Amino acid sequence: MSEPKSKNIHWHGAEVTTDQRERTLGQKGAVLWFTGLSGSGKSTISRRVESKLLQAGVTAYSLDGDNVRHELNKDLGFSPADRTENIRRIGAVAQLFMDSGLLTCAAFISPYKAGRDAVRTLLPEGRFIEIHVATSLAECEVRDPKGLYKKARSGEIPSFTGISAPYEAPENPEMVIDTAGRSVDECADMVVAYLAEHKLINIS
Ligand code: ADP
Repeated sequence: MSEPKSKNIHWHGAEVTTDQRERTLGQKGAVLWFTGLSGSGKSTISRRVESKLLQAGVTAYSLDGDNVRHELNKDLGFSPADRTENIRRIGAVAQLFMDSGLLTCAAFISPYKAGRDAVRTLLPEGRFIEIHVATSLAECEVRDPKGLYKKARSGEIPSFTGISAPYEAPENPEMVIDTAGRSVDECADMVVAYLAEHKLINIS
């Protein structure tokens, strides 16, 4: 959906710019977008990054796949159209968070390249950091932290990403993390190091 349905709406500009907000908060707004198969480690890493950032005095907030489906997107299922709408809405929320100067950790399977690219276009250059949590399907299936692969294999869950629904891997993500053989801390530290290196945070 590119054009709003309603025609009689006007954009109210803010008196305060994003830049001013960032200066007041002493941090930059950005979106860390974790994408990957179910069980790849998106939520776990995202939560650890959030916690490390908060400990370092950076205000971060995690937006998580299942949680968002409890309220904002509770009317959406897992059909291709619903998955697309799910990501579109989350992208809009992430854009607002970034504008407010927060560092957002977004952990969503987000299987379609077009959907992720659409979120990227909502954000200023350099503020959308796509992180492919590229844990193999075999490893995810062994972990199966929520028992979902078992259900997907038995046909109890239809349209399951990686089994019976597609996953389009990012072509040029800012980061690729394979969690196999790495601790959660190691993975989270890689993300924090990226943020420091790209001057999105100012911590040692
Ligand atoms: P997702 O959000 O991608 O569906 P989760 O974070 O819910 O995945 O689950 C990932 C599972 O993998 C958890 O049980 C977690 O403990 C385990 N795991 C093992 N090693 C790692 C790692 N290095 N990073 C993240 N998760 C890991």
